[in-house]
Amino acid sequence: MKAVILQRYGGPQVLEYVEDRPEPVPSPDEVLLHVHAASLNHLDLAVRQGIPSLQLVLPHVLGADVAGEVAKLGSDVAGFEPGDRVVANPGLPCGHCEFCIAGEDSLCPEYRILGEHVPGSYAEYLAVPAKNLLAIPVDMDWATAAAAPLVFMTAWRLLVTRAAIRPGEDVLVLGAGSGVSTAAIQIAKLAGCTVYTTSSSDAKLKRAKALGADVVINYKEMPWSKAVWELTGKRGVDVVLDHVGEATFKDSVRSLRNGGRLVTPGATTGPMPQIDLRYVFWRQLSILGSTMANQREFEAVMKLVFMGRLKPVVDRVFPLKDAREAHAYLERGEQFGKVVLSVP
Ligand SMILES: [Zn+2]
Repeated sequence: MKAVILQRYGGPQVLEYVEDRPEPVPSPDEVLLHVHAASLNHLDLAVRQGIPSLQLVLPHVLGADVAGEVAKLGSDVAGFEPGDRVVANPGLPCGHCEFCIAGEDSLCPEYRILGEHVPGSYAEYLAVPAKNLLAIPVDMDWATAAAAPLVFMTAWRLLVTRAAIRPGEDVLVLGAGSGVSTAAIQIAKLAGCTVYTTSSSDAKLKRAKALGADVVINYKEMPWSKAVWELTGKRGVDVVLDHVGEATFKDSVRSLRNGGRLVTPGATTGPMPQIDLRYVFWRQLSILGSTMANQREFEAVMKLVFMGRLKPVVDRVFPLKDAREAHAYLERGEQFGKVVLSVP
């Protein structure tokens, strides 16, 4: 089958388009999907560069997000037919540890992610557990469907479960253009919050406004933490969503109100920020980590996506064979929303 493979770690040039990768064989509880679209995540860039603690079998296939058609059913699978149009929860928990029994998939010590720990969606065919699949509406195109799962489930757990946002709260989402941010802005707005967001690009801020952001800050004109401090009457915001890490963490902490919550799902500029603990204890701040989501959270947020109340933002679609260009484009950070690969 056609696929983009990774034979060694490095820059976008290590991605190789091939036409002779063996098709995966679904196990009894899996479905073989004919992939129509795969979307990129920052996770893909990290895996491509090599994660020291992650021992992969090479060649590896990247890609956590997928939309496609059911091609073949494993022997134990019921409830799907060949031709069904679906998306998949990319999370693969063990299913039997104390966290899985409690329904906390992403706390599972054995938790794996499609395209990170096992072969992913940059390919014509992909085997996925049937329990991870949801049917998509007939009028939803492949690219839009593939753009949704990882960023919407991540943003939902971050804001709704971990930060427990409430109507009327001020929520600051850093970096308006990222996939998680475009999901988070919409979720916070739908929850009745006042949404603040930042960017160095007026064009991105304009698009963030169209998604529901109430207050937009161009940090080229003024340091964003200073702007937040002034715009909130020196109170600070209730919640900051910081996926940027080292470059912004100190200012994120300073932008919180007393008793505020900082949530982090990642650190694209580095994982070792400076933090002044006096702010944390004296102002009684909470710093919350979050990753991916459980199946219940995935289904809750995808229901709203399927109803059209939350809208995946597709920035640009590349053909599968141009995965290198797609990676280079995402790495430059010029996108607003998701970069998608269309699979023939
Ligand atoms: Zn488990």
